[in-house]
Amino acid sequence: MFERFLSSETKYLRTSEIRDLLKLTEGKNVISLAGGLPDPQTFPVEEIKKITEDVLTNYSDKALQYTATPGISEFRKELVNLSKSRGISGIDEKNIFVTVGSQEALYMLFNILLDTGDNVLVEAPTYLAALNAMRSRRPNFISVTVTEKGPDLNELERKVKESNANGKKVKLMYVIPTAQNPAGTTMSTEDRKRLLEIAVKYDFLIFEDDAYGFLVFEGESPPPIKAFDKEGRVIYTSTFSKILAPGLRLGWVVAHEDFIKEMELYKQNVDLHTPSLSQYIAMEAIRRGVIQNNLPKIRRIYKEKRDIMLEAIETYFPKGSRWTRPVGGMFIFAWLPEKIDTSKMLEKALQRGVAYVPGASFYADYSGRNTMRLNFSFPKKEELTEGIRRLAETIKQELST
Ligand code: PMP
Repeated sequence: MFERFLSSETKYLRTSEIRDLLKLTEGKNVISLAGGLPDPQTFPVEEIKKITEDVLTNYSDKALQYTATPGISEFRKELVNLSKSRGISGIDEKNIFVTVGSQEALYMLFNILLDTGDNVLVEAPTYLAALNAMRSRRPNFISVTVTEKGPDLNELERKVKESNANGKKVKLMYVIPTAQNPAGTTMSTEDRKRLLEIAVKYDFLIFEDDAYGFLVFEGESPPPIKAFDKEGRVIYTSTFSKILAPGLRLGWVVAHEDFIKEMELYKQNVDLHTPSLSQYIAMEAIRRGVIQNNLPKIRRIYKEKRDIMLEAIETYFPKGSRWTRPVGGMFIFAWLPEKIDTSKMLEKALQRGVAYVPGASFYADYSGRNTMRLNFSFPKKEELTEGIRRLAETIKQELST
């Protein structure tokens, strides 16, 4: 009915395969390894209750009022400290911008920077919702293979050189260096530095999505690429969704102050500012140490769940499959024997009572047909083993036909 009225940009929007899938599994006896939700056990409910009451008692005139577009000043100061705890130094309030989840940061950034046909480097696979946000800008994607160690930087440099030689400079790389969604891979510190050197050499921007930087449960979390950035080439984003609660819808950007000003202009047209109440709640959560104190619990829960899922995969998955062994985050990524098309197999998996996300949706060119993303943060522990068992049966059945 509205087709003929839609703008050309709207026509390029795609519905998220994940959301469609979740709809399919709702209310049925299906174990969903498809989602990407935090475990609600990780929400510090009592602390948030107390904080909300205190915020409304002490700051209701500000917390329920309109506020400045880049965010509440005191909150931005706390975000400077939180970002410093990730190793980012030499910044102050002017370098911080508060967003409605990091999703808004992705959306704004791509809209601020990308024109049709611009060359963008993306990991293959990469975060689906980022790809979709980029797609509406109709850029030219240059995919870089993700190995168990993160993006293949030799391939990346070769592709950048090729592109530049053809007179089409690369403008931007979108990258998730830690506990990548969907691959679960983490780049080494060395690779992070090298990627920044390549960006400097060929003069492109890096957009670093550190959604899972605080969620490394095995070994140290490497510093973000932003920590090595001396000239403002890296635009960094992170989120409260995985360290406090996604329902607050809070994310933030760390960037050169000139870029923050561009974001301010853009956001004025989108939603004026991020909800004040959420900002006050998160600010108090940082000040009272709620976030830092809760992180060990979140990491413990996710490590335990990862171990259960990995063990089940090792036990049940057929030969010829390989998968990542994430040191953080919420996802394991699997490559199945070439014969398998995970999009086609999904219906059979659902019939057996298990859901996953077919990997093709995480590739800019929809390749990766034999891959899948498995979520271990949300399902209950007993569901993890049973879900993988059902999935392995489906795969073996598919291989035998
Ligand atoms: N980036 C990545 C890599 C994610 O996995 C997610 C959430 N799944 C987001 C950004 C967006 O999260 P939010 O908007 O809740 O901050």
